[in-house]
Amino acid sequence: MQELPEVETVRSGLAKFLPRLVIKDVWHDWPKGFPNAPADVARFMVGASVKSVRRRAKVLIIELSSGYSLVIHLKMTGQLVFVGKERFGAGHPNDSLINNLPDKSTRVVLDFTDGSTLFFNDQRKFGWMRLLPTLEVPEIDFLKTVGPEPLEDDFTADKFIERLQTRKNSPIKAVLLDQKVLAGVGNIYADESLWMAKIHPSTPVDKVSRTKLVALHNDLRTVLKLAIEKGGSTDRNYVNAEGKKGSYIDFANVFRREGQPCPRCGTTIEKIRVAGRGTHICPKCQKVLK
Ligand SMILES: [Zn+2]
Repeated sequence: MQELPEVETVRSGLAKFLPRLVIKDVWHDWPKGFPNAPADVARFMVGASVKSVRRRAKVLIIELSSGYSLVIHLKMTGQLVFVGKERFGAGHPNDSLINNLPDKSTRVVLDFTDGSTLFFNDQRKFGWMRLLPTLEVPEIDFLKTVGPEPLEDDFTADKFIERLQTRKNSPIKAVLLDQKVLAGVGNIYADESLWMAKIHPSTPVDKVSRTKLVALHNDLRTVLKLAIEKGGSTDRNYVNAEGKKGSYIDFANVFRREGQPCPRCGTTIEKIRVAGRGTHICPKCQKVLK
């Protein structure tokens, strides 16, 4: 599953290229992934220009001048590739980022009047692109219930702790991953931030000291910002396939590092299961409190 930093990388890249472009033509081959009435597409997409590219949680929102927006969820294998004078592609890292497009994975194509094109590719077809009145976007079920954005300036430690305490008896990792508590935190960033703050992922929220929760707030934001920076810094290199490695993973301290020494204390990192998810911990730095 693509997480907040990956989706933010897609957003910031597209935000450099899409605004002001006018849609000339729309093609799609996958009605389930593009469930929009042809009459609406003709009326509210074709001829409209792009006003902005935004993100809420893991959802991308391309706002159009027609009063409608394209709401996009990349899910497991979605990616967006812009091909114009310059090329930008991000999302699921595979060869379609660099291939000639369209290819077998292409689901939606937006042609712009200046000759540039946006390709929505999705090998496994779980992603989608929906056309909705912009005013209705916040009313989508998912966006109505999703928690606050952890990287907003006003997302203070107090607000973070208040959100976690809505599920104070649950293991802290499960709470971090709960999209109703916080928007966009996934498995990698939960494991990394809990390791940094020296909190065992199974510890109920209630048993974690306030000092550690304040540290976790800071560590979570640090990890997310670093991941965005890494994603962002490989925008262009992604296209020559460097992104295939997953740039942030190279900087991870515990995620997928089981069997290796903890960078802080040298104890062997273990992989356990918490909240139904593969979880990476240092058994010495992260002691469970019951
Ligand atoms: Zn350690």
